[in-house]
Amino acid sequence: MSKIARRTFIQLSAVAAAGVVVAPGRKAAAQDLPQLTEDDPMAQAMKYVHDASKVDPATRANPAEVQNCANCALVQGADGDAWRPCQIFPGKVVNAAGWCSVWAPKA
Ligand code: SF4
Repeated sequence: MSKIARRTFIQLSAVAAAGVVVAPGRKAAAQDLPQLTEDDPMAQAMKYVHDASKVDPATRANPAEVQNCANCALVQGADGDAWRPCQIFPGKVVNAAGWCSVWAPKA
């Protein structure tokens, strides 16, 4: 398991242990969900920000790669939407230009 995959696995395990992972197949309408705030305790735990450009690339697992919610494997909803559901933050939408420490590349 790569260093990035191991770190992502550990972070996802922590979220699952907290009982907040959305059941597979459950989809919410993005327009009906509240926007995640940066001061949300879970957002802070995952270092979520609305603007990925504010994150020091050197702190990312792969600083050379452009990382934001829109190109993360865990984002849901429709491409092009400004706010989209995310598997890590069930019941809320994240900014497509945002980022958190759980970011993972799409396969
Ligand atoms: Fe954005 Fe991905 Fe983090 Fe969800 S897991 S907030 S889509 S970077």
